[in-house]
Amino acid sequence: MDLFKTSARAGDAAPLAPKAARALAAAIRHLAGWDRAYPGSAISCQGVWIVAGRRGLERGVAVGFPSGKRPRWTSALKGIEKDAVGASVLLLDGSHESLQALREALPFLQPRPTGKTPSFGFGDRTGLATPGHLLALAGSGFFPNLAQQSIREMTRTQRSPAEVLDAAVFGALQSGHLSGFGADADHLKTLDDVDRCADAGFVSFTLDAIEKVIDAAPRMNEADLEQAYQKILAEVPAAKGWEKKYSGKTFSFEKKVAVRMEGRAFREAIVKYGRAIPYWIEMEKRVRQKTKGRACEIEIAVDETGAVTTSAEHLFIVRELNERGMTFQGFAPRFVGEFEKGVDYKGERKILEDSVVEHAVLARAHGGYKISVHSGSDKFSIYPMIAKATEGRFHLKTAGTSWMEAVRVIARKDPALFREICDYVRGQFAKDRASYHISGDPGKVPAPAALKDADLERVYVDEDDGRQIMHVTYGSAFTARNEAGRWLFRDRIFALLAKEEDLYTKGLQKHLGRHVKGLKIRGAKKPAAAGVKS
Ligand SMILES: [Zn+2]
Repeated sequence: MDLFKTSARAGDAAPLAPKAARALAAAIRHLAGWDRAYPGSAISCQGVWIVAGRRGLERGVAVGFPSGKRPRWTSALKGIEKDAVGASVLLLDGSHESLQALREALPFLQPRPTGKTPSFGFGDRTGLATPGHLLALAGSGFFPNLAQQSIREMTRTQRSPAEVLDAAVFGALQSGHLSGFGADADHLKTLDDVDRCADAGFVSFTLDAIEKVIDAAPRMNEADLEQAYQKILAEVPAAKGWEKKYSGKTFSFEKKVAVRMEGRAFREAIVKYGRAIPYWIEMEKRVRQKTKGRACEIEIAVDETGAVTTSAEHLFIVRELNERGMTFQGFAPRFVGEFEKGVDYKGERKILEDSVVEHAVLARAHGGYKISVHSGSDKFSIYPMIAKATEGRFHLKTAGTSWMEAVRVIARKDPALFREICDYVRGQFAKDRASYHISGDPGKVPAPAALKDADLERVYVDEDDGRQIMHVTYGSAFTARNEAGRWLFRDRIFALLAKEEDLYTKGLQKHLGRHVKGLKIRGAKKPAAAGVKS
């Protein structure tokens, strides 16, 4: 079979037929000395074919082309060229340079904005979860944000923005995923955060102005609130007009939402977010500068503030940002009730529903951005409501829940390693939980020594208290070192996940697939295939 025939039109990427893909993958695995080559990765594109594989954790990419026609985008890459399977085969490592060249040459590997399509964010702290994520979303109509990682997560796992993106790009290649994906630099709090993620190639920027937010505003007494209000008037040039624009006014939308900006509601909104408005603008400007015309999108996040986001605050923030010419694709409020990591929603579902409806109405009235639900994993009881209340205009972010599927693999396949990690992170829980919103109590969970191997998974992955312990201590598990400075667990975790890749992928597909099922979007269109770059 002529494997080059199907890719006659420049730019068109297509999977190879299954039988040809299997035969090619087997031949390349042998030729490259990989442990595995992925038949699903075998595609033809721009006059070449591509197959991805691994040796242990090391990534490999093979590019086949007719003899003498080495593609120009590979010219700067170091690789080994061999003659095999009726072609010249360039064997590349999966280094940052290779993946960057691939992503620049092949449009379907270049991250792009999620736009208005309902979308699903997948944080992947292991860099090995993308195939499972894509399987979970298959046929759902959701657009995947594969490389979604906050600065906090990157710090805790000691991974750079480029490493996070590389892992997602390789995962998409490995899966033969041709319909596009996004990359979300989550919870950026400084201009330096923006720079690092923009340089790495991210296209969604979640801007969190928490450093300029006066979080205590809702808890202030009248005198303190008044004093803080006067300070904002003195500090923020635009603030002088806010009283006239908002104070005492009622803003009505769709005959069902009336936002009254009076008394405390008005003052709290101004005090809490008055200084954040110019900072968001500054951050957005920086994004546009650093991405130099590359298509990208902004999300405004206030979900990590200390109190529920009121309609008055939502309205004030988005009107002021809109007025300054800022456009954004998502707004992440802090919702009423408890969105604890890794467990279902705790709170009054009717009150939550009313507030999601209000936020969605405000979003429709101010440009039609999506409502973004953070800490969105494992909230099975509220998914149908979220899809309905937002009329499908939402984005859901998950992260730790994918790490928990990795923990499941460790507990099941290497109980000895699991016990070591678990003993260690139980000691780190009090410190690690500090920045998270959880109620897990290690006192209620038996130490691993008191459990049979067969019970580890149930107690530490499936039951809430144990699950939350493992959920928030991922940074400690990844970065603990012994006295000689060597990783305590990191290498062993990654080696096991690479070895048990199929199990990990199946676990992710099943668990995240449950999320997708609950969020069924009616009448959702499938995302269009990636554009052709000539
Ligand atoms: Zn968040």
